[in-house]
Amino acid sequence: MKPSRAAGRSASAQSDAGLLDRLGIAHGVLRVVRDEAGVARRVALLDCNESFVEQTSLTVDVGDRFLREAFGVGARTALAQLADAAQGNTSVLSHYYTSSSRWFACYCRPSCADRLTVVLIDVTGYRSDSTLGLQREQAYRSFIEHLPMIAILRVTAPQPVSLFSAGSFREMTGYGPEQGSSPEAWLEIVHPDDRGTVREAAERLVSQPLYDSETDYRIVRRDGETRWVRSYDRHFTSDDGTMQIVQGLIVDITERKRQEEELQEANDRIQEQNQLLERLARTDALTGLLNRRAMQEQLERELRLLSRGRGRFSVLLIDLDDFKGVNDRHGHRAGDRVLVHLAETLESQLRASDVCARWGGEEFMVLFTGTSGDAALNVSTKLRLWFAEHPAEVDHQSLPVTFTGGLVEAMDGDTVDALFARADAALYQGKNAGRDRIVGIMSSGSTVERA
Ligand code: GH3
Ligand code: MG
Ligand code: MG
Repeated sequence: MKPSRAAGRSASAQSDAGLLDRLGIAHGVLRVVRDEAGVARRVALLDCNESFVEQTSLTVDVGDRFLREAFGVGARTALAQLADAAQGNTSVLSHYYTSSSRWFACYCRPSCADRLTVVLIDVTGYRSDSTLGLQREQAYRSFIEHLPMIAILRVTAPQPVSLFSAGSFREMTGYGPEQGSSPEAWLEIVHPDDRGTVREAAERLVSQPLYDSETDYRIVRRDGETRWVRSYDRHFTSDDGTMQIVQGLIVDITERKRQEEELQEANDRIQEQNQLLERLARTDALTGLLNRRAMQEQLERELRLLSRGRGRFSVLLIDLDDFKGVNDRHGHRAGDRVLVHLAETLESQLRASDVCARWGGEEFMVLFTGTSGDAALNVSTKLRLWFAEHPAEVDHQSLPVTFTGGLVEAMDGDTVDALFARADAALYQGKNAGRDRIVGIMSSGSTVERA
């Protein structure tokens, strides 16, 4: 008879083991390892005979990985029962050994200090529900194989072990499941540009206990096609506290990504069109300046600021002189050209912070932000002179036109209508006084005229 691979066993244990070997009965010695609080944590296989090795496919080399290797997912239940048996409470247990895919009746005899002498009797043939168990396992496997996604299960600590990669692995990647057998193998099919992302996500995952993550990245299928996948990963500790486990589900989201992109593009287009419509609704078509509605909104905003004691401002109402005559003498098209020329003059000669609008017909309005009536009067006069000296060119002919302006500084309690009425009154005075001039009604109530 061959000696078993265990060392340091007692003489009586050796003779027991030898007899049991001859009888073909599996025999082993287990030790339940408890933590400081006395809670059973692990079970180590200290010794076993040849029959034990033959029947369970386990050797003493498994040491305190015994539970995991022997029972797989049933490790937690087995730990509880064996710990109980070590205290003399139960002596016969029935267990399924993952390593050999067999059921054993396990006779336990507690010896000293959490040690258990165990004898295993193979009862696979007697277990009425073993077929059911097998069927269950097959159904479970088939369920996983047919999932429309890839399922990956890995142990990361104490030692990294890949338990399985399954599901629609081949359909999704074109490779066999072995390509998911380790993080490195999987990384090979990740798109080169996304490998950094995947590596970082994996590192974050294993560095934090009880962590859930979701990562989108591309993979390159065996046939060269690039697909988008979303990986849902979970990092947790096994029930018995001995292992760190990563569980991942990888779903193909290429179609979803495409739809999202299409939706995004459609939304962008709608937004662009909305912005265009918005701009058009606020813009004068001929000159491209703001229209009256937009200027009214702007004035309201400025008046609100003023009422809160922030920012003074002045308003200039412009009306072209004898514009009817321009139209009559040179035609409506030439008149339009003069209107555009005035708009261009306003835009080029005034500060970017001043707001210019076509108020209607041949009337324009300028809002001088942060500007007193006196300062605005100076700017308006310069503007009037510049415009008079730089006439519009129509068909290589210059068309000198002047304007009259009514200027007012906004006062606390003003409304848009009140502001306009004062500016219009100033303009009217300017027209009456002979045109081509600026008349300002200042906040003191005085009227100033600059011809
Ligand atoms: P005043 O010096 O008193 O302002 O004289 P005026 O001729 O400018 O005054 P009035 O208001 O009588 O005439 C304004 C003219 O402006 C009449 C109208 O045909 C012209 N007008 C208004 N809108 C436009 C436009 O969009 N294009 C052209 N070409 N002319 C316009
Ligand atoms: Mg007019
Ligand atoms: Mg006019």
